[in-house]
Amino acid sequence: MVPAVLPPEPATSRGSLSAEGRKRLFPNATDAEWSDWRWQQRNAVRGLEQLERYVPLSADERAGVQETSSLFRIGISPYYLSLIDPEHPFCPVRMQSIPVRAEARVRPGELSDPLGEDKTRPEECIVHKYPDRVLFLALDTCSVYCRHCTRRRITQGGVAELSKEQIRRGVDYVRRHPEVRDVLISGGDPFMLSDSRLEEILAPLSEIPHVEMIRIGTRVPVCLPMRVTDSLAKTLRRYAPVFVVTHFNHPKEVTPEAREACERLVDHGVPVENQAVLMRQLNSDARIIKELSHLLLRTRVRPYYLHQMDVAEGCEHLRTPIAKGLEIIQQLRGHTTGLAVPHLAVDLPGGGGKVTLQPDYVVEYGQQETVFRNYKGERYAYPEPEETDCACPYEGVWQERALQYGYRKG
Ligand SMILES: *Cc1c(COP(=O)(O)O)cnc(C)c1O
Ligand code: SF4
Repeated sequence: MVPAVLPPEPATSRGSLSAEGRKRLFPNATDAEWSDWRWQQRNAVRGLEQLERYVPLSADERAGVQETSSLFRIGISPYYLSLIDPEHPFCPVRMQSIPVRAEARVRPGELSDPLGEDKTRPEECIVHKYPDRVLFLALDTCSVYCRHCTRRRITQGGVAELSKEQIRRGVDYVRRHPEVRDVLISGGDPFMLSDSRLEEILAPLSEIPHVEMIRIGTRVPVCLPMRVTDSLAKTLRRYAPVFVVTHFNHPKEVTPEAREACERLVDHGVPVENQAVLMRQLNSDARIIKELSHLLLRTRVRPYYLHQMDVAEGCEHLRTPIAKGLEIIQQLRGHTTGLAVPHLAVDLPGGGGKVTLQPDYVVEYGQQETVFRNYKGERYAYPEPEETDCACPYEGVWQERALQYGYRKG
């Protein structure tokens, strides 16, 4: 069997989408500059005048930039900008980075804190909503400001990178709560921190005996892949298990550069998962989600969640009907590998937490059997067993053994 390998040519070779865009938009950037994430950040587009120099804006976009200017910042790395289709306002990269007028409109029922996180925020940087895991908000900056960001009350800035004292208090909170076995570091984008600043968060967290795993939510592999250096990957590996959860929404974003970034993490022993957000007219189509999943799997990235859009201020125009997400899942399940089928999640407005949705395959529940339809719509019956006692007799013994032989922390 031939092992799956990335295209052998370097990421900056001719023929790649970003190489073309780069030549058109940043002809004077040297290879060293282009592949330096700090150069990318210094040269990110942050306002209307700059943006108009690179992209011929539609009237809707121009008005969108002006009308949202006091609501949420703009920031587009040269790399992500190079992926934009200058000729089509519905280019998925463009829709995710350039505002339109609809974003300035707040509809009744939309919330600035759609997930009710501020109600469960015992420390500035901790959201503790579920019993065994917390969200750790490390900073308020990102490589690109996504037009669909539903945490813009934080990412709009003004909160400032959290101080060392606040980080210390966050770590302390986790230390005082032995029920927390899983810490999800987010923000903002944690990979906007230098390796050493990131390590200042990872090191004390991983030393806490009851913390069994750390996850990092980041859009850097998508929007600023040059940030994923060997040094970053090695740093993460030192605190294993560290999972990276990234955020690709459209196959167009899965460029050779982005794939290289993900593979660098995986090669260093850092598993990568993807959370996509379903967005109307951007990726609201089963074919697109399937192609995205397949590209991710080829990159050794596992599709994890497909999120129904939160009921957040200015996001109405991107929301899909619930039925669309279900239809997409139904067109994946059975038609392709289960590894390519993400969980369709709705994070309930107001702070109810995530629930997942599945197409209903049960046609009939019975005492003796359950009747299903399969992915082709054919009917099959599954018979109930005679015995129904499901208690596990070894459980008491195992509880002791697990502690005795160190399977379990604590
Ligand atoms: C999504 C989320 C998590 C992580 O949930 P998983 O289902 O474990 O991925 C943790 N805390 C908060 C507040 C979240 O929104
Ligand atoms: S990277 Fe995440 S936190 Fe930052 S703007 Fe995008 S969605 Fe929001």
